Amino acid sequence: MNKKYSSKINKIRSFALSLVFIGFIIMYFGIFFKNHIIIMTIFMFLGLLSIIASTVIYFWIGMLSTKALQVVCPNCGKHTKILGRVDMCMYCREPLTVDPNLEGKEFDEKYNKKRFEKE
Ligand SMILES: [Zn+2]
Repeated sequence: MNKKYSSKINKIRSFALSLVFIGFIIMYFGIFFKNHIIIMTIFMFLGLLSIIASTVIYFWIGMLSTKALQVVCPNCGKHTKILGRVDMCMYCREPLTVDPNLEGKEFDEKYNKKRFEKE
């Protein structure tokens, strides 16, 4: 299994989750500037912004998720979702494709790029 790739939905989800943590860390640093109201406010604002951004991403991934093609993974038998032409199983990281031309080929994220589709 190639560890470099993970399912796109999982990738975006972990990004959104890290934004929440970053937001809290920024807000936490704001506490050190208790005596400087303006700096503290800026920190709080940035932290809040980061958490809001994460919420937006969560909504977005929820929308993507409903649009994504649901398939049964041939490897582990679980229901997983495909975004784009090639993606990975969310559970076992089996490369999956919806394009029969790409079946059996080695997994490559470049298959999702527009340039490749024209070729
Ligand atoms: Zn699987």
